Amino acid sequence: MTKSVILTGLRANNDLTLGNYFGGMLPIIEMAKARSSEYQINMFIPDLHSFTTPINHDELQTQVMNNARLFVAAGLPLDNNEIHLYRQSYISAHSELTWILDCFTGMGEMQRMTQFKDKSNKLSNDAFNATKDEQAESPLVNTAMALESAMHSSERISVGLFNYPVLMAADILLYDALYVPVGDDQTQHLEYTRDIAERMNSKFGSIFTVPLAAPKQHEFFGKGQGLRIMDLQTPSKKMSKSDESGKGVIFLSDDPKLAAKKVMSATTDDLALIAFDRKNQPGITNLLEILSLLRGTPLDDVVAEFEGHTRYGDFKKVVANEVEGFLTNFQANLSEVDDSKVLEKLESSEIAMRASANKTLLRAQRAVGLRPKE
Ligand code: ATP
Ligand code: MG
Repeated sequence: MTKSVILTGLRANNDLTLGNYFGGMLPIIEMAKARSSEYQINMFIPDLHSFTTPINHDELQTQVMNNARLFVAAGLPLDNNEIHLYRQSYISAHSELTWILDCFTGMGEMQRMTQFKDKSNKLSNDAFNATKDEQAESPLVNTAMALESAMHSSERISVGLFNYPVLMAADILLYDALYVPVGDDQTQHLEYTRDIAERMNSKFGSIFTVPLAAPKQHEFFGKGQGLRIMDLQTPSKKMSKSDESGKGVIFLSDDPKLAAKKVMSATTDDLALIAFDRKNQPGITNLLEILSLLRGTPLDDVVAEFEGHTRYGDFKKVVANEVEGFLTNFQANLSEVDDSKVLEKLESSEIAMRASANKTLLRAQRAVGLRPKE
């Protein structure tokens, strides 16, 4: 019996934060390890998706390898045959199926994608702000404005950014994946994937497996445990890698000593009493959560250990040491990742995945008449 497929893209680069590590990478790795006895796990590096917005292409190769290495350093096993790790562009069916799906996708469908609207808006913000002060409130006007800005800054906004959900649909459909962990920002793309799959199936007969809808995905994966590590300087906002100053952000690539300093200068409060209180003591609360994650001990235990203490400096020192130790360890793991083993894994997964992707592609090619019917 063939196993159902769980599919997820792996994105990682040098700028990842402690938040990305605990909120993004670890849950994926834990899920893969836990589910791999019952499911086939497809984990791919979305290199084709990486330049929908401008990048430095001289660095892409290094980044792709580094992306894989980061996950390995964080604990992704290379010796599990039910976990496949592959580079999207090494399986040409992704690009080929995208074209076919493109031709059955309405412009309007893509125009409705909020991610495109957000990202293209962001890219063309300057030009956009200069001409329009009154930001549109209605989605319709917003779409029109997004498109208008897209046209006015055609140098900067690519067709790739516009139709990347189609590539995403191909990523999923090629492997008959039922399960795809989706955050809220990707729900609409999953819906589109289901729509295009159903549309093709009803026009041509059964070609694709339709992935489950978002609520079912959340049921399966358990919807985001709601983990949010906050910025150390401004604990009312979440720690994020694109933060301007980076002063309140712990990056996985930070010098461990510097990271410890960032913890020591974290914003707290003047109550001088340690308590877990997100509302009134967000800084202290954030440090308690970080400590619990780093130690891998329940939050309650950590809270019990420090609750009522009055010396923030001592507490910060404990957290700072833990952060320093964690980064030292992680960076050592990263430098010990054996590139040749990673490459071997990528290449063997790619052979296996190419075969299964090509089967689906052939079904689609036959359906649309590019290949003779069976
Ligand atoms: P950006 O500033 O570019 O949005 P980001 O740091 O918010 O970057 P994302 O790329 O948006 O990171 O998210 C990557 C993954 O990391 C997601 O799974 C997201 O839930 C998780 N994540 C991001 N920030 C945090 C955080 N502060 N705490 C916990 N998880 C986080
Ligand atoms: Mg984000």
